[in-house]
Amino acid sequence: MSAILVYALHYDGAFNKNSLGAVSEASRLAAELGSEAHAVVVGDASDELAASLGNYGATRVFRARSAPEGLAQPVVDVMAKVMDDGGHRYALFGGGLLGFEIGAGLTARLHAGVTMEVTEVKVQDGKLVAVRPILQDSAIVDSGYVNEPGIIIGRLNAFEISEAADGASAEVETLDVQLSEWSTKARMVQRGEQRGEQVNIEDAKVLVAGGRGLGKAEGFQLAEDLAGALGGAVAATRAVVDAGWYSYSAQIGQTGKTVAPKLYLAAGISGAIQHKVGMQASENIVAINKDPNAPIFEFSDLGIVGDLNKIMPKLTAAVKARKGA
Ligand SMILES: Cc1cc2nc3c(=O)[nH]c(=O)nc-3n(C[C@H](O)[C@H](O)[C@H](O)COP(=O)(O)OP(=O)(O)OC[C@H]3O[C@@H](n4cnc5c(N)ncnc54)[C@H](O)[C@@H]3O)c2cc1C
Repeated sequence: MSAILVYALHYDGAFNKNSLGAVSEASRLAAELGSEAHAVVVGDASDELAASLGNYGATRVFRARSAPEGLAQPVVDVMAKVMDDGGHRYALFGGGLLGFEIGAGLTARLHAGVTMEVTEVKVQDGKLVAVRPILQDSAIVDSGYVNEPGIIIGRLNAFEISEAADGASAEVETLDVQLSEWSTKARMVQRGEQRGEQVNIEDAKVLVAGGRGLGKAEGFQLAEDLAGALGGAVAATRAVVDAGWYSYSAQIGQTGKTVAPKLYLAAGISGAIQHKVGMQASENIVAINKDPNAPIFEFSDLGIVGDLNKIMPKLTAAVKARKGA
């Protein structure tokens, strides 16, 4: 039946948003191909957790406890075996550093074709075609696969999460996969996560992003206050990260993270193309900029022209007052 296989990353008893997007996308594509979406989970995923991928359209979940979560090569071993045994036509990854590493390893292992930084996948003549921006996002290309299997690695959070209407649970199959000798050379010592004040930036529903318009490193206090009031996290442009005002883990854009929160509030950000590609999928974009001709206003849902030093404290106070009321 040649299904689509997805790697679903989990930690702290939940799948990450990016993996759920990949499972949803695989399920949508499989329906068009008349096929099925399957998933691989590794580590200590419980039955309930693994089966819950059915809510996002997966019909089967292969669980390999011998492979630890967080390292690429053991997952490559597991996915290569599942694809060899099951004749899967495609493997789909949501992206992220681990997804990129596993996808690249799987491609080499299976002598497959790979497309990275994919922002959309289409079905054409019974095959998958990956759509990806090239040349610093100045052009978009369609990439088909000459041979199968084909490996598709999405941009982080490029695929939308959608819960299956029937919400069925997936059939969970536990596999005993013999890991290669080289796959067990590295071991996970500690898992660290760079978080904003309260929320992981890639999963945050609200992001308050600061740019050079904040003036200096201390200016980020304005962004942190507003993000705190809104229950969100703080993001940044490369210009301020390069200037040492904020940490790289918060950088959004071509050489940073790709995010798609419900609200992206850009303060003192000009809206350069390299920044735009990392946040353009946000549901609502609000920009504060003193320059009415700033490019960010071209792709904002709401634009506020003015000095952020005056606007942001008032906005923070208003949000607090409303929440307190
Ligand atoms: C290969 C490459 C990769 C890159 N990757 C990234 C990336 O991943 N992410 C990224 O962000 N950039 C990236 N860049 C850099 C990008 O081109 C821009 O230089 C950068 O995004 C600009 O950051 P900024 O908006 O903070 O600063 P600026 O462009 O300097 O904009 C500052 C804005 O603040 C406004 N402002 C100033 N004072 C105030 C005030 N008091 N109140 C309100 N508004 C005010 C100004 O009007 C201006 O619009 C990359 C560049 C290259 C060449």
